[in-house]
Amino acid sequence: MSKITVAGAGVGGLIAAMKLAQAGHDVTVYEKNSAGDCGYEQKDSFDASAVEYAGIEIPGDFYAPGNEITFFPIDEDVAPLKMPPPEGYKNITVDRKKLFSCLSSLAADAGVKFVYDTEVKSPVILGSRVCGIKTENETVYSDLIIDACGMNSPLRKALPEWMSIEKEAESRDFLYAYRAIFDRKDGDFDTGERYKIYVHSDTGFTWIITEDDCVDVLIVDFNEIPYSKVADELHKVSVRNPQMGMNLIGNGKFMQIPVRQPLAVFVADGYAAVGDSAFMTYAVKGSGIAYSIKAGTILARAVAEDTHGLYEAETLWNYEKDFFNEIGFDACRIALIKNLFPYFTADEINEIFSKKLITSEEVEKLLTGGYRKSELPGLIKDKLKLLGDVPEFRSQLLMLIGWLGKFALLDSFFPAKYTREDAAKWNERYSKFFAGTLPGQNINEITE
Ligand SMILES: Cc1cc2nc3c(=O)[nH]c(=O)nc-3n(C[C@H](O)[C@H](O)[C@H](O)COP(=O)(O)OP(=O)(O)OC[C@H]3O[C@@H](n4cnc5c(N)ncnc54)[C@H](O)[C@@H]3O)c2cc1C
Repeated sequence: MSKITVAGAGVGGLIAAMKLAQAGHDVTVYEKNSAGDCGYEQKDSFDASAVEYAGIEIPGDFYAPGNEITFFPIDEDVAPLKMPPPEGYKNITVDRKKLFSCLSSLAADAGVKFVYDTEVKSPVILGSRVCGIKTENETVYSDLIIDACGMNSPLRKALPEWMSIEKEAESRDFLYAYRAIFDRKDGDFDTGERYKIYVHSDTGFTWIITEDDCVDVLIVDFNEIPYSKVADELHKVSVRNPQMGMNLIGNGKFMQIPVRQPLAVFVADGYAAVGDSAFMTYAVKGSGIAYSIKAGTILARAVAEDTHGLYEAETLWNYEKDFFNEIGFDACRIALIKNLFPYFTADEINEIFSKKLITSEEVEKLLTGGYRKSELPGLIKDKLKLLGDVPEFRSQLLMLIGWLGKFALLDSFFPAKYTREDAAKWNERYSKFFAGTLPGQNINEITE
């Protein structure tokens, strides 16, 4: 039996904790919030196949019909695009506090101990190994530390450079978000579509979901959102959605949502990151619950296979390898599509919709992770044919083809086995490659 510490009660950490306690390990989760304050004051949706993958039982009322999203370009004369959920897609929409309560109960039933109201401050490193954590109250030594502290993990940020684990998120790696739940006005309003997305005239979007008893608004932007913009966007959506009341009944918080490729390296001797702390999100929209549940399951499997209980980077690399093969490489391709967004203006996005260069089914498939590696080249070829009469978009599409081609070469450099040198080389190549896709960079120069 090993002593395992999970830092932060993130989704993937809870799944790994539960599975490792079931396997007989002594597992403790340290969480900075109190039990009642964990999870978010909002409902979120994710792909139900993750729950099947993890083999966990969840309440039946978590399952909900998939959302039909209506996408409104800035030009109100351009017809909105309706995106029904893909056929056969099984969806979960759940209050995040209920999800936390469900996952933490499953973990507690398996024997996981929880220490709430305790902030993890830093890792304890001895020689080449992460061997514990420092909390505000004590130093805890463990055989394995699972980092589930989210995007701004203080553990990840304090790891030594030679572990080759990227520490800081760059701009464009995450979205600034403001989420607020408002009352829903009484009256016979024609609410039309339940789930809408409005494109802003600059770099953001507003999502609005009309529930039976409330209206849930999420404003996101790659730039920090000042209060004045929040007020402006709230006013605009309330005018277009008269059912929306102006009484704030929940949330009303600024947050950050990671939208980038997973970390190149997220394991070290005695350490593994999972979920947002390793940037395991679906980059075009920031959904990370399904990936985190799957990653927590993969991590527990790799730990179980380490029968010597040493949890060195060499054995934890199996977690990283399986994650990349099952999820990560596809997630990288989605991140490349997301990295194309800054190369379009809002007017050009408008044109794409008005000229029907992309269909609602294709957008929905992209949003729900429906495209596999083998399908993307065919999709792009079809689009290139369509672009005959709008040559200005050909350059962006050709750029994407170039990136995907180079990425196919890059993924072959993923080390089959962990050595410190190979992990460092992989991290360097991977980071340079993605940096090269940002505006103002030249990927050919950078990756030579
Ligand atoms: C506004 C918003 C909307 C979203 N919508 C969706 C959606 O619809 N679908 C979807 O799949 N995903 C969505 N996501 C993303 C999703 O929340 C995450 O990808 C997913 O929860 C995985 O993150 P995590 O659990 O690893 O990290 P987090 O959710 O960040 O959890 C980290 C945990 O660690 C704790 N913690 C942090 N620092 C410390 C510390 N120093 N010491 C101790 N504890 C600490 C935190 O309190 C928290 O409990 C959304 C995110 C946001 C912000």
